[in-house]
Amino acid sequence: MSLTVVGSIAYDAVKTPFGERERMLGGSAVHFALAASFFTQVRVVGPVGEDFGAEDLAVLTERGIETGDIETIEGGKTFFWQGHYEHDLNVAHTDDTQLNVFAEFEPKLSEASASSDVLFLGNIVPDLQRNVRAASSAGFAALDSMNLWIETARDSLVAAIGEVDCLLLNDAELRQLTDESNLAKAARAVREMGPRIVVAKRGEYGAALFTDDDAFAIPGLLIEEVADPTGAGDSFAGGFLGYLDSVGAESLNGDELRRAMVFGSVMASFNVEDFGTERVRSLEPSEVESRVADFKSLTHFNDAPLATS
Ligand code: AMP
Repeated sequence: MSLTVVGSIAYDAVKTPFGERERMLGGSAVHFALAASFFTQVRVVGPVGEDFGAEDLAVLTERGIETGDIETIEGGKTFFWQGHYEHDLNVAHTDDTQLNVFAEFEPKLSEASASSDVLFLGNIVPDLQRNVRAASSAGFAALDSMNLWIETARDSLVAAIGEVDCLLLNDAELRQLTDESNLAKAARAVREMGPRIVVAKRGEYGAALFTDDDAFAIPGLLIEEVADPTGAGDSFAGGFLGYLDSVGAESLNGDELRRAMVFGSVMASFNVEDFGTERVRSLEPSEVESRVADFKSLTHFNDAPLATS
């Protein structure tokens, strides 16, 4: 079992009602890899600039993540994203996106990265996602994206979606992509584009899973310590796909898919407790297990017959 991810490796400037950071480690591939590393062997593919610090690379290697395919581009600058969140943390605003080293990047996958069992095409330019899909022999591929690419690179994004088994997207982005206001219909429209599994991420309200055989929804974890939602979606994807890789993503059953939704939600819930990668980088596997138990008690109830009919 092994999982390769391509996506942004970034410096983020983030402001939330609970504080701000001017420059911290972030990026879709980074948040994803940290969360997935609790379940499987992860390899990261992508470029960084000469400004990328050794201490930031160490955040990944300390969790056992394989970083040999992270390429330092001479004279280049690391991807930069700046954003802020409203009082309602579900509402995010992008203030600046600088692709920097991603503008010209041509991925070179090592033999090990190309032959991973599972591939995650994290949020980044759709053309790059397609190049990596073409270079990989993974039996199972999943993709995440965002409104920027739906608006500026729609054709390439739809082509990329057609080449994967699973799409993970925010509910608003699913509606935007398909022009359907009903979420179940939007998920069906995506399945008609190619993927047989669609996951709608719904911020603090949880997530929903759609396949031809099943629809499944989970709530968010109702935690009180929320500092910064940046990376929650990627942490969800990391828990979800990391677990699927650990059980063998090529022959999944419905129970495994439902359990993966819980692992995704649990990893996202840790991510939001502190800024950037600060919480997940020091997380212990025993904390993951105990939050899965919390999740079970949050959603469990004892059925009983109605007193009247
Ligand atoms: P999310 O999980 O959706 O909160 O993703 C947050 C991460 O996505 C941040 O750490 C950013 O560095 C990264 N990001 C934001 N915009 C883009 C973009 N256009 N392309 C790639 N990565 C991005």
